[in-house]
Amino acid sequence: MGESYKVAVIGAGIAGLLTARELQREGHHVTVFEKASKVGGIWLYDPRVETDPLGLDPNREIVHSSLYKSLRANLPRQAMSFLDYPFLKKEGGDDQRTFPGHEEVLRFIEGFARDFGLMELIQFGHQVIRVELVDEVTHEWVVESRTRETESTWESKEELFKAVVICTGNQTEPNIAEFPGRDTWPGLQMHSHNYRTPEGLENKIVVLIGNGPSAHEILKEISPLAKQVHQAIRGPSVENYDSPWQHPMTDYFRKIECARNDGKVVFQDGAIVEADVIVHCTGYKYHYPFLKSNGIVTVDNNRIGPVYKHVFPPSLAPWLSFVGLNTWSVIFRVMELQARWVAKVLSGMVELPSQEAMASSVEELYSEMEKKGLPKNHTHSLKNDEFEYVSWLAAQLNIKPLKRWKEVTVVSFIEWAVQHGENFRDTWDIDKWMQEIDSSD
Ligand SMILES: Cc1cc2nc3c(=O)[nH]c(=O)nc-3n(C[C@H](O)[C@H](O)[C@H](O)COP(=O)(O)OP(=O)(O)OC[C@H]3O[C@@H](n4cnc5c(N)ncnc54)[C@H](O)[C@@H]3O)c2cc1C
Repeated sequence: MGESYKVAVIGAGIAGLLTARELQREGHHVTVFEKASKVGGIWLYDPRVETDPLGLDPNREIVHSSLYKSLRANLPRQAMSFLDYPFLKKEGGDDQRTFPGHEEVLRFIEGFARDFGLMELIQFGHQVIRVELVDEVTHEWVVESRTRETESTWESKEELFKAVVICTGNQTEPNIAEFPGRDTWPGLQMHSHNYRTPEGLENKIVVLIGNGPSAHEILKEISPLAKQVHQAIRGPSVENYDSPWQHPMTDYFRKIECARNDGKVVFQDGAIVEADVIVHCTGYKYHYPFLKSNGIVTVDNNRIGPVYKHVFPPSLAPWLSFVGLNTWSVIFRVMELQARWVAKVLSGMVELPSQEAMASSVEELYSEMEKKGLPKNHTHSLKNDEFEYVSWLAAQLNIKPLKRWKEVTVVSFIEWAVQHGENFRDTWDIDKWMQEIDSSD
Protein backbone atom coordinates (compact mmCIF):
# COMPACT_ATOMS: atom_id res chain seq x y z
CA MET A 1 0.00 0.00 0.00
CA GLY A 2 1.38 3.42 -0.94
CA GLU A 3 0.41 7.01 -0.09
CA SER A 4 -3.05 7.62 1.27
CA TYR A 5 -4.97 10.85 0.72
CA LYS A 6 -8.27 12.50 1.49
CA VAL A 7 -10.11 12.35 -1.84
CA ALA A 8 -13.46 13.80 -2.94
CA VAL A 9 -15.46 11.96 -5.58
CA ILE A 10 -18.27 13.93 -7.19
CA GLY A 11 -21.20 11.80 -8.31
CA ALA A 12 -22.50 8.37 -7.28
CA GLY A 13 -23.35 6.96 -10.70
CA ILE A 14 -21.35 4.05 -12.06
CA ALA A 15 -18.18 6.11 -12.49
CA GLY A 16 -18.31 7.56 -8.96
CA LEU A 17 -19.06 4.21 -7.31
CA LEU A 18 -16.29 2.43 -9.20
CA THR A 19 -13.89 5.24 -8.31
CA ALA A 20 -14.88 5.17 -4.63
CA ARG A 21 -14.31 1.41 -4.51
CA GLU A 22 -10.89 1.62 -6.15
CA LEU A 23 -9.79 4.53 -3.97
CA GLN A 24 -10.91 2.68 -0.86
CA ARG A 25 -9.05 -0.46 -1.96
CA GLU A 26 -5.88 1.63 -2.25
CA GLY A 27 -6.36 2.93 1.29
CA HIS A 28 -7.46 6.50 0.49
CA HIS A 29 -10.05 8.33 2.62
CA VAL A 30 -13.03 8.86 0.39
CA THR A 31 -16.04 11.16 0.50
CA VAL A 32 -18.58 10.91 -2.31
CA PHE A 33 -20.83 13.92 -2.94
CA GLU A 34 -24.12 13.04 -4.63
CA LYS A 35 -26.87 15.54 -5.31
CA ALA A 36 -29.59 12.88 -5.58
CA SER A 37 -30.90 10.85 -2.66
CA LYS A 38 -29.88 7.51 -4.17
CA VAL A 39 -27.07 5.93 -6.16
CA GLY A 40 -27.39 5.10 -9.87
CA GLY A 41 -27.00 8.39 -11.77
CA ILE A 42 -28.50 8.06 -15.25
CA TRP A 43 -30.01 4.69 -14.26
CA LEU A 44 -32.21 6.29 -11.61
CA TYR A 45 -35.30 6.72 -13.80
CA ASP A 46 -37.10 10.00 -13.10
CA PRO A 47 -40.59 10.48 -14.58
CA ARG A 48 -40.24 14.28 -14.29
CA VAL A 49 -39.25 16.38 -17.28
CA GLU A 50 -37.59 19.76 -17.16
CA THR A 51 -39.65 22.95 -17.31
CA ASP A 52 -37.83 23.93 -20.52
CA PRO A 53 -38.09 20.75 -22.67
CA LEU A 54 -35.23 21.93 -24.93
CA GLY A 55 -32.99 22.58 -21.94
CA LEU A 56 -31.91 26.04 -23.10
CA ASP A 57 -32.88 27.92 -19.92
CA PRO A 58 -29.82 27.92 -17.65
CA ASN A 59 -32.05 28.51 -14.62
CA ARG A 60 -34.31 25.51 -15.15
CA GLU A 61 -34.40 22.85 -12.47
CA ILE A 62 -32.24 20.06 -13.88
CA VAL A 63 -33.53 16.50 -14.01
CA HIS A 64 -30.42 14.34 -14.14
CA SER A 65 -31.63 11.14 -15.79
CA SER A 66 -32.24 10.93 -19.53
CA LEU A 67 -33.94 7.54 -19.47
CA TYR A 68 -37.31 6.93 -21.03
CA LYS A 69 -39.71 4.64 -19.28
CA SER A 70 -39.48 1.63 -21.58
CA LEU A 71 -35.67 1.70 -21.91
CA ARG A 72 -33.79 -1.58 -22.07
CA ALA A 73 -30.00 -1.74 -22.05
CA ASN A 74 -28.51 -1.76 -25.51
CA LEU A 75 -25.65 -3.98 -24.39
CA PRO A 76 -25.97 -7.53 -23.07
CA ARG A 77 -25.52 -7.73 -19.30
CA GLN A 78 -22.23 -9.62 -19.81
CA ALA A 79 -20.80 -6.48 -21.41
CA MET A 80 -22.03 -4.34 -18.52
CA SER A 81 -20.35 -6.49 -15.84
CA PHE A 82 -17.41 -5.25 -13.81
CA LEU A 83 -14.12 -7.18 -13.82
CA ASP A 84 -14.80 -8.96 -10.52
CA TYR A 85 -18.51 -8.31 -10.17
CA PRO A 86 -20.58 -9.94 -12.90
CA PHE A 87 -24.01 -8.66 -13.81
CA LEU A 88 -25.77 -12.00 -13.34
CA LYS A 89 -29.33 -13.09 -13.90
CA LYS A 90 -30.73 -13.57 -10.38
CA GLU A 91 -32.60 -16.79 -9.81
CA GLY A 92 -36.22 -15.85 -9.31
CA GLY A 93 -35.30 -12.24 -10.14
CA ASP A 94 -37.79 -9.89 -11.74
CA ASP A 95 -35.88 -9.42 -14.98
CA GLN A 96 -33.98 -12.40 -16.43
CA ARG A 97 -33.39 -10.86 -19.83
CA THR A 98 -29.92 -10.66 -21.34
CA PHE A 99 -30.64 -7.06 -22.34
CA PRO A 100 -32.31 -5.97 -19.10
CA GLY A 101 -34.66 -3.10 -18.43
CA HIS A 102 -33.34 -0.03 -16.64
CA GLU A 103 -34.79 -1.15 -13.28
CA GLU A 104 -32.60 -4.26 -13.35
CA VAL A 105 -29.48 -2.21 -14.19
CA LEU A 106 -30.26 -0.02 -11.18
CA ARG A 107 -30.60 -3.13 -8.96
CA PHE A 108 -27.16 -4.23 -10.17
CA ILE A 109 -25.64 -0.84 -9.31
CA GLU A 110 -27.31 -0.74 -5.88
CA GLY A 111 -26.07 -4.27 -5.14
CA PHE A 112 -22.54 -3.24 -6.11
CA ALA A 113 -22.65 -0.19 -3.82
CA ARG A 114 -23.95 -2.27 -0.90
CA ASP A 115 -21.61 -5.23 -1.39
CA PHE A 116 -18.53 -3.01 -1.38
CA GLY A 117 -19.66 -0.90 1.59
CA LEU A 118 -19.82 2.26 -0.51
CA MET A 119 -23.13 3.61 0.86
CA GLU A 120 -21.39 4.82 4.01
CA LEU A 121 -18.99 6.96 1.99
CA ILE A 122 -21.74 8.91 0.22
CA GLN A 123 -23.16 12.26 1.30
CA PHE A 124 -26.55 12.15 -0.40
CA GLY A 125 -28.45 15.34 -1.21
CA HIS A 126 -25.15 17.25 -1.51
CA GLN A 127 -24.82 19.18 -4.74
CA VAL A 128 -21.28 20.35 -5.43
CA ILE A 129 -21.27 24.00 -6.49
CA ARG A 130 -17.53 24.76 -6.42
CA VAL A 131 -14.32 22.82 -6.86
CA GLU A 132 -11.28 25.06 -6.72
CA LEU A 133 -7.57 24.70 -6.11
CA VAL A 134 -6.88 26.81 -3.01
CA ASP A 135 -3.23 26.09 -2.52
CA GLU A 136 -0.99 25.49 -5.52
CA VAL A 137 1.93 24.38 -3.38
CA THR A 138 0.17 21.81 -1.21
CA HIS A 139 -2.36 21.04 -3.94
CA GLU A 140 -5.31 21.51 -1.67
CA TRP A 141 -8.79 21.71 -3.17
CA VAL A 142 -11.91 23.18 -1.68
CA VAL A 143 -15.19 21.43 -2.40
CA GLU A 144 -18.23 23.54 -1.68
CA SER A 145 -21.55 21.73 -1.59
CA ARG A 146 -25.09 22.70 -0.79
CA THR A 147 -28.04 20.85 0.68
CA ARG A 148 -31.65 21.90 0.48
CA GLU A 149 -32.94 23.37 3.75
CA THR A 150 -36.43 24.32 2.65
CA GLU A 151 -38.14 24.52 -0.74
CA SER A 152 -36.34 27.79 -1.49
CA THR A 153 -33.29 27.88 0.79
CA TRP A 154 -29.99 26.04 0.75
CA GLU A 155 -27.26 25.50 3.27
CA SER A 156 -23.72 25.32 1.98
CA LYS A 157 -20.46 24.03 3.42
CA GLU A 158 -16.81 23.86 2.38
CA GLU A 159 -14.35 21.05 2.90
CA LEU A 160 -10.70 20.65 1.92
CA PHE A 161 -9.35 17.68 0.00
CA LYS A 162 -6.02 16.65 -1.40
CA ALA A 163 -7.54 15.31 -4.61
CA VAL A 164 -10.82 15.49 -6.48
CA VAL A 165 -12.23 13.02 -9.01
CA ILE A 166 -15.06 14.33 -11.19
CA CYS A 167 -17.64 11.65 -12.02
CA THR A 168 -20.69 13.75 -12.80
CA GLY A 169 -21.69 12.06 -16.07
CA ASN A 170 -22.06 13.56 -19.50
CA GLN A 171 -25.58 12.74 -20.62
CA THR A 172 -27.70 15.37 -18.93
CA GLU A 173 -27.01 18.72 -20.59
CA PRO A 174 -28.75 18.69 -24.00
CA ASN A 175 -26.93 19.54 -27.19
CA ILE A 176 -29.51 21.23 -29.42
CA ALA A 177 -29.53 21.31 -33.22
CA GLU A 178 -29.10 24.79 -34.67
CA PHE A 179 -31.07 25.79 -37.75
CA PRO A 180 -32.73 28.97 -39.03
CA GLY A 181 -36.15 29.53 -37.48
CA ARG A 182 -35.55 27.24 -34.53
CA ASP A 183 -36.38 29.83 -31.92
CA THR A 184 -39.55 31.14 -33.59
CA TRP A 185 -41.06 27.88 -34.86
CA PRO A 186 -44.56 27.69 -33.30
CA GLY A 187 -44.71 23.92 -32.54
CA LEU A 188 -43.44 21.97 -29.53
CA GLN A 189 -39.71 21.25 -29.43
CA MET A 190 -37.96 18.99 -26.96
CA HIS A 191 -34.67 17.20 -26.53
CA SER A 192 -34.66 13.40 -26.14
CA HIS A 193 -33.40 14.07 -22.57
CA ASN A 194 -37.00 15.05 -21.79
CA TYR A 195 -38.73 12.19 -23.61
CA ARG A 196 -40.29 9.69 -21.17
CA THR A 197 -43.28 8.07 -22.90
CA PRO A 198 -45.11 8.45 -26.24
CA GLU A 199 -48.05 10.04 -24.42
CA GLY A 200 -49.11 13.27 -26.12
CA LEU A 201 -47.71 12.29 -29.53
CA GLU A 202 -50.82 10.42 -30.69
CA ASN A 203 -51.86 11.51 -34.21
CA LYS A 204 -49.10 14.11 -34.33
CA ILE A 205 -46.62 14.75 -37.12
CA VAL A 206 -43.26 14.40 -35.44
CA VAL A 207 -39.79 15.28 -36.68
CA LEU A 208 -36.85 13.46 -35.11
CA ILE A 209 -33.41 14.98 -35.63
CA GLY A 210 -30.55 12.51 -35.35
CA ASN A 211 -29.89 8.83 -35.87
CA GLY A 212 -28.19 7.60 -32.73
CA PRO A 213 -29.71 4.90 -30.51
CA SER A 214 -32.15 7.32 -28.79
CA ALA A 215 -33.58 8.53 -32.11
CA HIS A 216 -34.14 5.00 -33.32
CA GLU A 217 -35.68 3.76 -30.10
CA ILE A 218 -38.02 6.74 -29.88
CA LEU A 219 -38.94 6.23 -33.52
CA LYS A 220 -39.90 2.63 -32.84
CA GLU A 221 -41.95 3.59 -29.82
CA ILE A 222 -43.91 6.46 -31.33
CA SER A 223 -44.39 5.18 -34.91
CA PRO A 224 -47.49 3.07 -34.13
CA LEU A 225 -49.41 6.00 -32.67
CA ALA A 226 -48.09 9.16 -34.34
CA LYS A 227 -49.61 10.28 -37.63
CA GLN A 228 -46.21 10.54 -39.31
CA VAL A 229 -42.64 10.41 -38.03
CA HIS A 230 -40.04 12.15 -40.16
CA GLN A 231 -36.37 11.72 -39.39
CA ALA A 232 -33.45 13.91 -40.41
CA ILE A 233 -30.61 11.42 -40.63
CA ARG A 234 -26.91 11.63 -41.24
CA GLY A 235 -25.66 10.08 -44.49
CA PRO A 236 -27.65 8.16 -47.06
CA SER A 237 -30.99 6.69 -46.09
CA VAL A 238 -31.00 3.23 -44.56
CA GLU A 239 -32.70 0.45 -46.47
CA ASN A 240 -35.35 -1.78 -44.88
CA TYR A 241 -35.99 0.84 -42.34
CA ASP A 242 -39.25 1.20 -40.41
CA SER A 243 -39.94 4.78 -41.37
CA PRO A 244 -40.88 5.79 -44.90
CA TRP A 245 -39.98 9.38 -44.02
CA GLN A 246 -36.23 9.66 -43.83
CA HIS A 247 -34.50 12.86 -44.88
CA PRO A 248 -30.72 12.64 -45.31
CA MET A 249 -28.73 15.61 -44.00
CA THR A 250 -26.30 17.10 -46.45
CA ASP A 251 -25.00 19.63 -43.93
CA TYR A 252 -24.33 17.64 -40.78
CA PHE A 253 -23.99 20.70 -38.54
CA ARG A 254 -27.26 22.29 -39.62
CA LYS A 255 -29.28 19.07 -39.74
CA ILE A 256 -32.47 20.54 -41.23
CA GLU A 257 -32.71 23.40 -43.70
CA CYS A 258 -35.03 25.56 -41.61
CA ALA A 259 -38.22 25.72 -39.57
CA ARG A 260 -40.74 28.31 -40.73
CA ASN A 261 -43.11 30.53 -38.81
CA ASP A 262 -46.08 28.88 -40.56
CA GLY A 263 -45.19 25.58 -38.82
CA LYS A 264 -43.50 23.97 -41.82
CA VAL A 265 -40.17 22.17 -41.48
CA VAL A 266 -37.90 22.16 -44.54
CA PHE A 267 -35.48 19.24 -44.82
CA GLN A 268 -32.19 19.26 -46.68
CA ASP A 269 -33.54 16.84 -49.29
CA GLY A 270 -36.11 19.49 -50.22
CA ALA A 271 -39.10 17.87 -48.46
CA ILE A 272 -41.45 20.23 -46.61
CA VAL A 273 -43.62 18.97 -43.77
CA GLU A 274 -46.17 20.73 -41.60
CA ALA A 275 -45.10 19.27 -38.27
CA ASP A 276 -46.43 19.46 -34.69
CA VAL A 277 -43.35 18.39 -32.73
CA ILE A 278 -39.58 18.37 -33.22
CA VAL A 279 -37.52 16.05 -31.02
CA HIS A 280 -33.80 16.84 -30.96
CA CYS A 281 -32.00 13.49 -30.53
CA THR A 282 -28.70 15.28 -30.88
CA GLY A 283 -26.67 14.12 -27.91
CA TYR A 284 -25.26 15.90 -24.91
CA LYS A 285 -22.70 18.48 -23.81
CA TYR A 286 -19.99 18.25 -21.17
CA HIS A 287 -20.88 20.65 -18.43
CA TYR A 288 -18.90 21.46 -15.29
CA PRO A 289 -20.36 24.67 -13.86
CA PHE A 290 -18.73 23.98 -10.48
CA LEU A 291 -15.14 23.62 -11.72
CA LYS A 292 -13.04 26.75 -11.18
CA SER A 293 -9.70 25.90 -12.76
CA ASN A 294 -8.47 29.37 -13.76
CA GLY A 295 -8.92 28.47 -17.40
CA ILE A 296 -6.69 25.39 -17.18
CA VAL A 297 -9.49 22.97 -18.02
CA THR A 298 -11.83 24.18 -20.73
CA VAL A 299 -14.74 22.79 -22.71
CA ASP A 300 -14.49 23.73 -26.38
CA ASN A 301 -17.06 22.26 -28.78
CA ASN A 302 -17.44 19.25 -26.50
CA ARG A 303 -13.69 18.73 -26.15
CA ILE A 304 -12.48 18.88 -22.56
CA GLY A 305 -8.95 20.00 -22.67
CA PRO A 306 -6.35 19.28 -21.99
CA VAL A 307 -6.81 15.86 -20.40
CA TYR A 308 -4.18 13.15 -20.66
CA LYS A 309 -5.75 9.89 -21.81
CA HIS A 310 -9.18 11.36 -21.04
CA VAL A 311 -8.43 11.38 -17.29
CA PHE A 312 -5.74 13.78 -16.00
CA PRO A 313 -5.32 17.49 -16.87
CA PRO A 314 -1.49 17.48 -17.13
CA SER A 315 -0.74 20.55 -15.00
CA LEU A 316 -3.14 19.50 -12.23
CA ALA A 317 -2.35 15.78 -12.24
CA PRO A 318 -2.83 13.65 -10.31
CA TRP A 319 -4.80 15.92 -7.97
CA LEU A 320 -7.67 16.51 -10.36
CA SER A 321 -9.06 13.79 -12.59
CA PHE A 322 -12.12 12.73 -14.56
CA VAL A 323 -13.61 9.26 -14.73
CA GLY A 324 -16.25 8.53 -17.35
CA LEU A 325 -15.56 11.21 -19.96
CA ASN A 326 -15.64 8.74 -22.82
CA THR A 327 -18.59 7.75 -24.86
CA TRP A 328 -19.19 4.67 -26.92
CA SER A 329 -19.47 1.01 -26.27
CA VAL A 330 -18.42 -1.05 -23.24
CA ILE A 331 -18.18 2.02 -21.11
CA PHE A 332 -18.56 0.41 -17.65
CA ARG A 333 -15.30 -1.46 -18.10
CA VAL A 334 -13.52 1.61 -19.41
CA MET A 335 -14.62 3.52 -16.30
CA GLU A 336 -13.50 0.68 -14.06
CA LEU A 337 -9.97 0.74 -15.48
CA GLN A 338 -9.84 4.55 -15.36
CA ALA A 339 -10.96 4.45 -11.70
CA ARG A 340 -8.28 1.92 -10.81
CA TRP A 341 -5.66 3.95 -12.65
CA VAL A 342 -6.57 7.12 -10.73
CA ALA A 343 -6.49 5.29 -7.37
CA LYS A 344 -3.10 3.71 -8.08
CA VAL A 345 -1.55 6.88 -9.46
CA LEU A 346 -2.61 8.74 -6.30
CA SER A 347 -1.15 6.08 -4.05
CA GLY A 348 2.10 6.19 -6.03
CA MET A 349 1.82 2.57 -7.18
CA VAL A 350 1.61 3.65 -10.84
CA GLU A 351 3.63 6.55 -12.23
CA LEU A 352 2.49 9.20 -14.66
CA PRO A 353 4.81 10.62 -17.32
CA SER A 354 6.12 14.16 -16.83
CA GLN A 355 3.71 17.06 -17.19
CA GLU A 356 5.35 17.99 -20.51
CA ALA A 357 5.05 14.44 -21.87
CA MET A 358 1.37 14.31 -20.92
CA ALA A 359 0.72 17.67 -22.57
CA SER A 360 2.44 16.60 -25.77
CA SER A 361 0.46 13.34 -25.83
CA VAL A 362 -2.72 15.43 -25.76
CA GLU A 363 -1.37 17.61 -28.59
CA GLU A 364 -0.55 14.49 -30.59
CA LEU A 365 -4.11 13.27 -30.23
CA TYR A 366 -5.43 16.63 -31.44
CA SER A 367 -3.18 16.71 -34.47
CA GLU A 368 -4.02 13.10 -35.38
CA MET A 369 -7.70 14.01 -35.21
CA GLU A 370 -7.10 17.00 -37.41
CA LYS A 371 -5.27 14.88 -39.98
CA LYS A 372 -8.19 12.46 -40.07
CA GLY A 373 -10.64 15.34 -40.38
CA LEU A 374 -12.38 14.51 -37.10
CA PRO A 375 -14.19 17.38 -35.39
CA LYS A 376 -13.37 18.40 -31.80
CA ASN A 377 -16.55 16.92 -30.47
CA HIS A 378 -15.22 13.44 -31.29
CA THR A 379 -12.28 13.83 -28.89
CA HIS A 380 -13.67 11.57 -26.16
CA SER A 381 -15.49 9.12 -28.40
CA LEU A 382 -13.82 5.73 -28.43
CA LYS A 383 -15.62 4.68 -31.56
CA ASN A 384 -12.49 3.75 -33.49
CA ASP A 385 -9.91 3.02 -30.84
CA GLU A 386 -11.60 1.53 -27.81
CA PHE A 387 -9.65 -1.72 -27.94
CA GLU A 388 -6.33 0.15 -28.10
CA TYR A 389 -7.31 2.48 -25.25
CA VAL A 390 -8.51 -0.32 -23.02
CA SER A 391 -5.33 -2.33 -23.69
CA TRP A 392 -3.27 0.74 -22.85
CA LEU A 393 -5.10 1.23 -19.53
CA ALA A 394 -4.78 -2.47 -18.72
CA ALA A 395 -1.04 -2.28 -19.37
CA GLN A 396 -0.67 0.64 -16.92
CA LEU A 397 -2.29 -1.55 -14.31
CA ASN A 398 -0.48 -4.76 -15.19
CA ILE A 399 -3.75 -6.45 -16.03
CA LYS A 400 -3.66 -9.00 -18.82
CA PRO A 401 -5.89 -7.74 -21.62
CA LEU A 402 -9.00 -9.82 -21.33
CA LYS A 403 -10.65 -11.81 -24.04
CA ARG A 404 -13.86 -10.16 -23.13
CA TRP A 405 -12.60 -6.90 -24.57
CA LYS A 406 -13.54 -8.49 -27.84
CA GLU A 407 -17.07 -7.68 -26.79
CA VAL A 408 -16.21 -4.29 -28.11
CA THR A 409 -16.38 -5.60 -31.63
CA VAL A 410 -20.05 -6.43 -31.27
CA VAL A 411 -20.94 -2.90 -30.50
CA SER A 412 -20.75 -1.94 -34.12
CA PHE A 413 -23.17 -4.77 -34.76
CA ILE A 414 -25.50 -3.38 -32.12
CA GLU A 415 -25.42 0.06 -33.70
CA TRP A 416 -26.34 -1.52 -36.99
CA ALA A 417 -29.15 -3.52 -35.38
CA VAL A 418 -30.55 -0.47 -33.58
CA GLN A 419 -30.54 1.50 -36.79
CA HIS A 420 -32.31 -1.24 -38.68
CA GLY A 421 -35.10 -1.32 -36.15
CA GLU A 422 -34.56 -5.01 -35.54
CA ASN A 423 -35.61 -6.72 -32.39
CA PHE A 424 -32.00 -7.65 -31.74
CA ARG A 425 -32.36 -7.79 -27.96
CA ASP A 426 -34.60 -10.83 -28.06
CA THR A 427 -33.32 -12.57 -31.16
CA TRP A 428 -29.56 -12.40 -30.80
CA ASP A 429 -27.98 -15.65 -29.59
CA ILE A 430 -25.74 -14.13 -26.98
CA ASP A 431 -24.70 -17.45 -25.40
CA LYS A 432 -23.32 -18.71 -28.71
CA TRP A 433 -21.47 -15.43 -29.11
CA MET A 434 -19.98 -15.68 -25.58
CA GLN A 435 -18.83 -19.26 -26.29
CA GLU A 436 -17.13 -18.07 -29.45
CA ILE A 437 -15.27 -15.38 -27.51
CA ASP A 438 -14.25 -17.86 -24.80
CA SER A 439 -12.94 -20.39 -27.27
CA SER A 440 -10.92 -17.83 -29.25
CA ASP A 441 -7.38 -16.89 -28.20
C1 LIG B 1 -30.69 7.04 -22.73
C2 LIG B 1 -29.39 6.38 -22.35
C3 LIG B 1 -29.24 5.00 -22.45
C4 LIG B 1 -28.04 4.39 -22.12
N1 LIG B 1 -27.93 3.03 -22.23
C5 LIG B 1 -26.78 2.43 -21.91
C6 LIG B 1 -26.65 0.99 -21.96
O1 LIG B 1 -27.58 0.29 -22.33
N2 LIG B 1 -25.47 0.43 -21.59
C7 LIG B 1 -24.42 1.19 -21.16
O2 LIG B 1 -23.37 0.64 -20.82
N3 LIG B 1 -24.50 2.53 -21.11
C8 LIG B 1 -25.64 3.16 -21.46
N4 LIG B 1 -25.75 4.53 -21.37
C9 LIG B 1 -24.57 5.31 -20.96
C10 LIG B 1 -24.59 5.71 -19.48
O3 LIG B 1 -24.40 7.07 -19.44
C11 LIG B 1 -23.50 5.03 -18.72
O4 LIG B 1 -23.88 3.67 -18.75
C12 LIG B 1 -23.25 5.38 -17.26
O5 LIG B 1 -24.40 5.16 -16.51
C13 LIG B 1 -22.67 6.77 -17.00
O6 LIG B 1 -22.29 6.77 -15.63
P1 LIG B 1 -21.63 8.02 -14.93
O7 LIG B 1 -21.41 7.63 -13.53
O8 LIG B 1 -20.48 8.49 -15.74
O9 LIG B 1 -22.71 9.19 -15.03
P2 LIG B 1 -24.15 9.32 -14.40
O10 LIG B 1 -24.84 8.03 -14.40
O11 LIG B 1 -24.77 10.45 -15.11
O12 LIG B 1 -23.88 9.73 -12.88
C14 LIG B 1 -23.41 10.99 -12.49
C15 LIG B 1 -23.85 11.26 -11.07
O13 LIG B 1 -23.29 12.52 -10.65
C16 LIG B 1 -24.27 13.25 -9.91
N5 LIG B 1 -23.95 14.67 -10.01
C17 LIG B 1 -23.90 15.41 -11.14
N6 LIG B 1 -23.55 16.69 -10.85
C18 LIG B 1 -23.36 16.75 -9.52
C19 LIG B 1 -22.99 17.79 -8.61
N7 LIG B 1 -22.72 19.02 -9.04
N8 LIG B 1 -22.90 17.49 -7.30
C20 LIG B 1 -23.17 16.22 -6.84
N9 LIG B 1 -23.53 15.21 -7.66
C21 LIG B 1 -23.62 15.45 -8.98
C22 LIG B 1 -25.58 12.86 -10.56
O14 LIG B 1 -26.67 13.09 -9.71
C23 LIG B 1 -25.34 11.37 -10.88
O15 LIG B 1 -25.76 10.55 -9.83
C24 LIG B 1 -26.95 5.17 -21.68
C25 LIG B 1 -27.10 6.56 -21.57
C26 LIG B 1 -28.30 7.16 -21.90
C27 LIG B 1 -28.43 8.66 -21.77
